[in-house]
Amino acid sequence: MAKKRQAERTGSVYERKAQVGEGTYGKVYKAVNAITNEMVALKRIRMESERDGFPITALREIKLLQSVRHENVVSLLEMMVEKSSVYMVFDYMDHDLSGILTHPNFVLEQAHVKHLFKQLLSGLNYLHKRGILHRDIKGSNILLNNDGQLKIADFGLARFYNKHKSNVDYTNRVITLWYRPPELLLGATAYGPGVDVWGAGCLMVEFYTRRAIFQGQDEMQQLEAIYNIMGTPNKEIYSDVDQLPWYELVKPTEEKESKFISLYEKIMSPCGLELASKLLSLDPKKRPSAEEALADPYFAEEKPEPVRPSWSGDLIGEWHEYESKQRRKKEKQLNKEQEKVTETTEKP
Ligand code: ADP
Ligand code: MG
Repeated sequence: MAKKRQAERTGSVYERKAQVGEGTYGKVYKAVNAITNEMVALKRIRMESERDGFPITALREIKLLQSVRHENVVSLLEMMVEKSSVYMVFDYMDHDLSGILTHPNFVLEQAHVKHLFKQLLSGLNYLHKRGILHRDIKGSNILLNNDGQLKIADFGLARFYNKHKSNVDYTNRVITLWYRPPELLLGATAYGPGVDVWGAGCLMVEFYTRRAIFQGQDEMQQLEAIYNIMGTPNKEIYSDVDQLPWYELVKPTEEKESKFISLYEKIMSPCGLELASKLLSLDPKKRPSAEEALADPYFAEEKPEPVRPSWSGDLIGEWHEYESKQRRKKEKQLNKEQEKVTETTEKP
């Protein structure tokens, strides 16, 4: 028996249970520490080719993770080397936000939404105060557990930024398209924490509607999707918009007013609507900082008060983007088979 247990172990003390993620770097597994019985997540670092040595992007991610410690930011427990693979070991989290929001019948209460969003802003505020830009805020990078704790994860695109320098030159090819703010889509290479605040704004609306608010297929369509709801930018609402590298190139042909309030006033409370529209200001200078957003009446004054959710594991299971995608694939397959059956039975 003891021998079998040993054989099943993947690394030093971790027994692999299931795959929970498939990302840019490679796979993420749920595993259990055979000595302490604690659940962990193992994120494998993909080694493109041994010739290049240890990937610099992974080194950057590890270095950043080692410098953070906050209840709303994922903590790197240790590194593990097994055969020729290197793994980052994290506390295991039961869900990610993408998995929860696409859950077929799971209902999130208003007070819970508020508590979760507050935790997201607290994590962001901590990172920004430490001079870190996350640069990939989206549902699948926000982890949750059944005790209602939320943690920001995936520092694969994160970097330190200089709070006092404005003539910096960062890449604008960051952040998953649907959560990318207008300044990056217009070619800005000098930017700051506002890029993460925009992502948080997108997620705030998504908490209520359960679908991403701006869904473009490419950069042009993404800008269009944003303009269709938030209105087109001009010098009045976004003073230096014409300084952005691609502004002239992709200038919209017709001016549009914001439709945001009329689209969401039935779904969101007055303070929620107000806060979301500020987070989604086209001009990054007009977006509140995470700290300012935390002081918003939406959290402190408007009812209901934030309440930490607590979910029974048996009731809701474990939901990550990965499982949700697998489920949708299965459903499609089933539907296809169903169609085939109807076709064959309908034929005379
Ligand atoms: P990538 O760079 O590949 O996107 P992530 O760190 O975002 O890597 O991990 C991919 C997925 O794996 C996440 O979307 C999440 O569903 C899952 N995951 C990551 N870390 C954990 C964790 N600590 N606990 C549970 N699931 C995790
Ligand atoms: Mg990710």
